[in-house]
Amino acid sequence: MSDVRFPKRRIIISAVVALLAGVAISLALGRLLYSEESRTVTLEFKADIDQLSASIEREVLLNLEILYALKAAVGTMPDMTRDRFETLTRKVLDRSPAIQAFAWAPIVERDQLPEFIREQRMTYPEFSVTEAGAEGLSPVRARAEYVPVQYIEPLADNRAALGFDLASEASRRKALTRAGESGEMVATAGIRLVQEPEDQNGFLVFAPLYEFAPGTSGTVADSHQTGFINGVFRVGELVKQAVGSERRTDLLLEVIDRTGDEETVLYRSGRPDAPGWRFEDRYRAGQFEIAGRQWSVEAVPSEGLIKERRGLLPIFVSSAGIVLVCVVVGYFLAGARRNAQLSEAKAELEQISLTDSLTGLANRRHFDAVLKQEVRRASREKTPLSLLMIDIDYFKEYNDEYGHPAGDQCLVQVAEILGAMIKRPADLVARYGGEEFAIILPDTANPTPIAKACRKAVLDRGIPHPRSPVADIVTISLGVTTIPPETEVDPGEVVDRADKLLYEAKASGRNRVCGG
Ligand code: GH3
Ligand code: MG
Ligand code: MG
Repeated sequence: MSDVRFPKRRIIISAVVALLAGVAISLALGRLLYSEESRTVTLEFKADIDQLSASIEREVLLNLEILYALKAAVGTMPDMTRDRFETLTRKVLDRSPAIQAFAWAPIVERDQLPEFIREQRMTYPEFSVTEAGAEGLSPVRARAEYVPVQYIEPLADNRAALGFDLASEASRRKALTRAGESGEMVATAGIRLVQEPEDQNGFLVFAPLYEFAPGTSGTVADSHQTGFINGVFRVGELVKQAVGSERRTDLLLEVIDRTGDEETVLYRSGRPDAPGWRFEDRYRAGQFEIAGRQWSVEAVPSEGLIKERRGLLPIFVSSAGIVLVCVVVGYFLAGARRNAQLSEAKAELEQISLTDSLTGLANRRHFDAVLKQEVRRASREKTPLSLLMIDIDYFKEYNDEYGHPAGDQCLVQVAEILGAMIKRPADLVARYGGEEFAIILPDTANPTPIAKACRKAVLDRGIPHPRSPVADIVTISLGVTTIPPETEVDPGEVVDRADKLLYEAKASGRNRVCGG
């Protein structure tokens, strides 16, 4: 029983191991593809942001170009007036939504301030020079020098900034100083715009203006600085122009000014505290310079953006792998089951087979069937029929001497000897039961020679049997009967007759043939 179960258990263990290994390999493959895909998606995202960064840089520089052009135009002009400033800037401003304002701001020394204010009031009756305080704008305090906004366009939207002293506020003053010293355009860090009601961040760019003494080289060193012209830029608008009018909700875009130790967020496209941002995939594109400041564009993708760019390949590969493994293992198990069924069927067949499993001779069932058939045929064909019943002498003692397995081997030897005795195809040697054999000899009128030959053959084999009272080797006794032609008997009676003669052989001393 145990050797039947053993392979079954082994098959199931192999199937489970194969299934687990297959599933693990499929999942690992899927995971590999997934991380490969993540890498590609992240690379694509970074390439996107690099491009966005480049377009934002280009857009900002283009807008600064306008300020350059304005400065160049102003340099060729005689004194600036309100009308001239408006004419110069109006069209440009109409076409550039990212420019909040252009302003003209001269340097006014302290003792010239009252005169300056008086002159401005001739154009703007309510003109005053202001500075930023804790509660909005207030009149300027005494200082050596002022840089008040004299003209600003478009005026309607920027009235609050008119008269505002640019030097009164730290970050503007810093840029003014640097622009004055270098002669270059200098941007401020990101600032809240005075004139904008909403939370719009912007930055200012100052271009210094000079008056050159006639006949000099035209360098900063030979000149006298008269003031500044500045542009006020809206960062949100610049980004919008660079990115396109459609707002990107799938990423959190930031434009950050990182100059020296300062770090200012100039623009942010959404709320960082909103859910769904993948901060672990945050990417910073390369820095670029805007009028003396270092800017960079950074972005955080949303879950949606990453998901959208993913394909179904990893999940497909995993599932296909798992399905394939299941099919293969299922097929294998079905095969194993079929095999098991086959072995069962084989065992069953053996049970109902006609062969004796120990000796390989015909078994009792086969003997009965053949005898019945041969008795009928003999009667029909009017032929004689002989039957030999054979029994090993003192076989119990043989078992007692050598044990049952050796007894079995002795049975095998005797069977082999008897099997070799018959020559005709119709003859049949069978194991009748235990240590008894039977030989059916159809169409045989004189079976005695064969019977004697059988007895002699066993004797000649000389299988040792020390406990046998008749010889010291294995012997057999035989009962032989012949049914003459045209005698009606049934098979049972034939066996009875042969059995009686076998009994006689036993009773008369064994190792002999009776009947025939
Ligand atoms: P007798 O000369 O009167 O035939 O004596 P015997 O001992 O041969 O006869 P008995 O009927 O007393 O014992 C037959 C023995 O044969 C008993 C049984 O253990 C043994 N035997 C029957 N079938 C087998 C078998 O398949 N293998 C083995 N080893 N022994 C068997
Ligand atoms: Mg017996
Ligand atoms: Mg016997």
